[in-house]
Formats: sequence, structure tokens, C-alpha cells
Amino acid sequence: MAKTCDAIIIGAGIAGASLAFHLARRGLKPVVLERRFLAAGATGRSSGLVRMHYDLEAESRLAWASFHYFRNWKEVVGGECGFTRTGFLQIVAPAYTAKLRANVTMHQRLGIPSLLVTPDDVKRLAPEFATDDFEMAAYEPESGYADPVSTAQSFLTAARERGAELVQECRVSGVSATGGRVTGVVTQRGEFSAPVVVNAAGAWAAEIGKLAGVALPLDTWTHEVAYLRRPASIRHHPTVIDDSLSMYFRPETGGLTLVALEDGNRFGEAPDADTEHVAKGFVEKAVERLCRRMPGMEAGSLHSAHVGRDGISPDQRAMMGQAGPQGFYVACGFSGTGFKIGPAVGACLSELILDGRAATVDISPFSLKRFETGELLKGEHAYQSIWH
Ligand SMILES: Cc1cc2nc3c(=O)[nH]c(=O)nc-3n(C[C@H](O)[C@H](O)[C@H](O)COP(=O)(O)OP(=O)(O)OC[C@H]3O[C@@H](n4cnc5c(N)ncnc54)[C@H](O)[C@@H]3O)c2cc1C
Repeated sequence: MAKTCDAIIIGAGIAGASLAFHLARRGLKPVVLERRFLAAGATGRSSGLVRMHYDLEAESRLAWASFHYFRNWKEVVGGECGFTRTGFLQIVAPAYTAKLRANVTMHQRLGIPSLLVTPDDVKRLAPEFATDDFEMAAYEPESGYADPVSTAQSFLTAARERGAELVQECRVSGVSATGGRVTGVVTQRGEFSAPVVVNAAGAWAAEIGKLAGVALPLDTWTHEVAYLRRPASIRHHPTVIDDSLSMYFRPETGGLTLVALEDGNRFGEAPDADTEHVAKGFVEKAVERLCRRMPGMEAGSLHSAHVGRDGISPDQRAMMGQAGPQGFYVACGFSGTGFKIGPAVGACLSELILDGRAATVDISPFSLKRFETGELLKGEHAYQSIWH
């Protein structure tokens, strides 16, 4: 006999956990089916940057709506999300200064605390930074990073307290539909039936799409991250996306600095390909670039490195909305930037499912229709694609 529930969410990453919380808050009893364990995918490897700086307004809106959760986690969700305010700097090459200005104007219009700063200002914020290769940076004094595993965990704990269920080691292998309506899923632990099924399967979402007859234009993106020990001379620094040097970095607890690169990411690997080993040369490249921005790191040392994998769409923006049989929804293709928008993604999808449209943020730009019409999303004042 199939187990019956109000909604089935496939995947217990940040997207599935946040959606479970928001549906449960509206009185539904969703079941989250996870083939391994909570945060086993991209969420468990995420660098956790929390910033609102995007060149696409719809993404800034999602990040800004989510920021309210990160800042008020205990009251809004409960438990911990590990949000740490460090301040956030977006550094761009001089060729992008005009676009940076325009994007900061857009962020300020949305109410996001963001301002333009000069290299001298940056030197005051981060005295150890080299500041001779850019004209202007954007600064978000309130931003920082959070702990993705705690964030997903506390979303699911709060969802379960409201009647949701998490079933781990439960791989979905079939999606059932009758008369053009989704009716449930088949798993290694038997069948589950529900009028709503949501594909939040991250790098595996194309496989789930196929089970429902939905072809998702989804590739995989494999990303490497290194953790370095800072020398005692560098006590702290802000969180930074350094487009000029194609990298990002942030402080981590224990005197560490996390660093990763925007280029050299691998595309098209199988979702289950190795995530245990970083590629040869990655650590050296990351250290070399970090030392260009923070020369004092030359006295640092390697702590560890890891690999993660996310689903990526052709325009490197999320895919969200109804697709295929009625009652089937997708929340995937987060393209290496889906953690910080996770809270709003869950809120918006719950609204779409229950009310027919998202009110928190308009997520219609992220619908799959854009891949049929060829109108891919592009920032109003676009920088280069973040991953290349
Ligand atoms: C190394 C790295 C660093 C990143 N850094 C940042 C950052 O700093 N800031 C930011 O905002 N974003 C960042 N991202 C992106 C962000 O982490 C992801 O976009 C986000 O975590 C995706 O969440 P998700 O829930 O969609 O997918 P996932 O977390 O991958 O969850 C999908 C889940 O589905 C499960 N699943 C798959 N197939 C099945 C099946 N058949 N049946 C049941 N379950 C299934 C998987 O086991 C997995 O747990 C980073 C990503 C990586 C990999």
C-alpha cells in the first residue's frame, strides 16, 4: 500500500528542506525523500556565502528576502544557521566599474545595504589587501556567510515539528502520473502517493525530470574549495567575491580562510562522479591568487580541500516552477549560488503550489519556458558568467 501524504519533496538539500518548512508552516504534511542523508549533495559542500550582490534583480530580490531569515533565524525558523556577519566585498576589474555602479544602484533601490567603496576604503576595511588593480568595489556591511548543513537541518527540524517527515536512504526511482496529473513516486522503500511532487534533487534533478517525462536542460558543475590556515598576522578579513582575480574567499572559524575559483570548474561530470579528490594544481592556483590579494597569506599553510557538485542551467540561473504533469514542480539548476537564496526559494515555491503564484518574490523569470523561447536570463548590467 502506498503511503499517502500532502506533498512529496525529492531531495533533502537546502531547497527541499526550506520547501518542507514552508509547506508545513502552511498546514501541509509533506514527506521529504532523500536517497542518502540530509545535505548529502551540494548543500553539504557549500561555501555558504550570504550576499545580495547579483547582476540580475530577481536574484538580488531572492537573496534579500532570504537575508531576513538568516538575520533572524531563531525567531523565524528556530535552531541554528551559523550566520556570521563579516561584511562582503565585490571586487571587479576596472572594465566593469560602470556595471558595478549600476548594480549597486539597483541593490539600494531594493533596500539592500550596499555601497560603493574606493580602494582606500577597502584598505581601511582590510589593511592586508592589495588594492592597486581595481577602481571601485561594492560593500555590503551586513553580509557574510552561514553554515549550510545547520541551515538545512534546522529547516527540517522545524518542518518535522509541524508534521513533515524526512525519509533518508530512500532513492526515488519512478514518478507516477494518471491522466496528466502526478500521483506519487516509487522508491526503494515502497510507493508514496501525493497530488504534488517536487524535484529538488540538485545535480541529479535531470534524472528525476526524466522519470516524469520532463527534459531539463541541466548540466553538472564540479567545484573545488580549499581551506588555508592564516598566519597570526591576519586575524580577520571580510568575505569577498574577487571577480578581478576570478576567485572568492571568506574567513572560516579556527583561523582558517576558505578560497575557491570562478574558473577551471568542471562541467558535464556524472552526478555521482568522484567528489573525494581535488584536481592536480587546484590548491596551488587558489593559493597563488589569494596571495595576490592578501600577500600576507604567503605565511599561511594548507588545512584541507574538498569538492562539491551542483546542477547548472544554460544561463547559470535557477529553474523553478511547474513542469510536465500537473502537480509536478522543479526547484533545481541553482548553478553554484543556490544556498543563500534557499529560504526565499522554499517560501516562493510553497506559495506557487498553494496559491498559484509566488508573492514573496516573483519567480516567473526562473520558469522553464525561457529555454523554449531562447530568452535566457541575463543581468541588466551583466558581468561575465560567474563560472567559466
Ligand atoms: C562546493 C560548493 C560551494 C558552493 N558555495 C555556495 C555559496 O557560497 N553560496 C551559495 O549561495 N551557494 C553556493 N553553492 C551552491 C549551493 O550550495 C547549491 O546551489 C545548493 O546547495 C543546492 O541545493 P539543492 O537542495 O538544490 O541540492 P542538493 O543540496 O544537492 O540536494 C539534492 C539532494 O537530492 C538527493 N537526491 C538526488 N537524487 C535523488 C533520488 N533519486 N531520490 C532521493 N533523493 C535524491 C541528493 O542526495 C541530495 O541530498 C555551492 C555549491 C558547491 C557544490
